[in-house]
Amino acid sequence: MTSFSRRAFSIGLPAAFVAASAVVPGRTAVAQARTAVTKTVVPLAQVTVGRFTVTALVDGYADMPFTYFTARSAQAVEADARTQFAARPNGIRFVFNQYLVDDGERLILVDTGPAGALGETGRLPGALEAAGVRADQIDAVIVTHAHVDHTGGLVAGGRRNFPKAALHVDRRDIAYWTDPAKRAAAPEFLKSSFDACAEMVRLYPDLQAIDGERQITRGVSVVDLTGHTPGHIGVRVEDGGSSLLMVSDMLFPSVHPADSGIGFLFEQDPAAAQQMRARFFPRAAEERALIAATHMPFPGLGRIVSDGGRMRWLAADWALQG
Ligand SMILES: [Zn+2]
Repeated sequence: MTSFSRRAFSIGLPAAFVAASAVVPGRTAVAQARTAVTKTVVPLAQVTVGRFTVTALVDGYADMPFTYFTARSAQAVEADARTQFAARPNGIRFVFNQYLVDDGERLILVDTGPAGALGETGRLPGALEAAGVRADQIDAVIVTHAHVDHTGGLVAGGRRNFPKAALHVDRRDIAYWTDPAKRAAAPEFLKSSFDACAEMVRLYPDLQAIDGERQITRGVSVVDLTGHTPGHIGVRVEDGGSSLLMVSDMLFPSVHPADSGIGFLFEQDPAAAQQMRARFFPRAAEERALIAATHMPFPGLGRIVSDGGRMRWLAADWALQG
């Protein structure tokens, strides 16, 4: 019978298992190299959309309790997540993806992550560095809505993180999230979003309030996806017959797009969010739209497909495309 030493066995294991091993003395160079990769790797993914290069970056993740999903019991959400291998001890994992759009002349960042405000986050600066981009090279930031998991990375230590960027936010969200009466009436878990919005407005006095659907620059336009928040928007990048639609919080992992009736605790107008999803999911399936969604598993790229009448998420290839 063949016997394997622990070392020989570990070489065949994924890097994460090797890193978790407590056996250090006498490790092979391969095992040591694997540990180094595990510690330093920064996920980056790129797709080409006509003349645009879109790079997916990730600020980190947080596990959302099964009780945070509405319209179904926590037990039902968990059971469904189990069948998809998406159930974790503390809920369903949301990643925080950001997208860097490069048209060859300008760099536009879509969303900035929670930056430590929740979960295991704060990795966006390192991801930008790995992509070879300095924060002061970002020409514009589009924030899809004013929840702190999208605005958190705009500021740090009382200063703006993107000193030269024009900031675009929907006017309805600015009005909502700077309203003292709304803040006073809001549950505790939303206060950080109000506070982050106040700081955003203070530190980005040149902030550009967006009214409805409009073009930000040639081939980059805003799409109204109101519901999740009053000014929840998407960003469409389009060139030469191909397009990518960044839809922010229109889809959450495991529950969407199969059931548009399921919402999330953080939504300001649950009925409006539900109606928007009920309209959007079949339309996206019909248009075969390539989508990027903030909280879907990295890099969040995929399509909504109708599978015998049931909507499902089909993750897209994202490397070496073009
Ligand atoms: Zn979000």
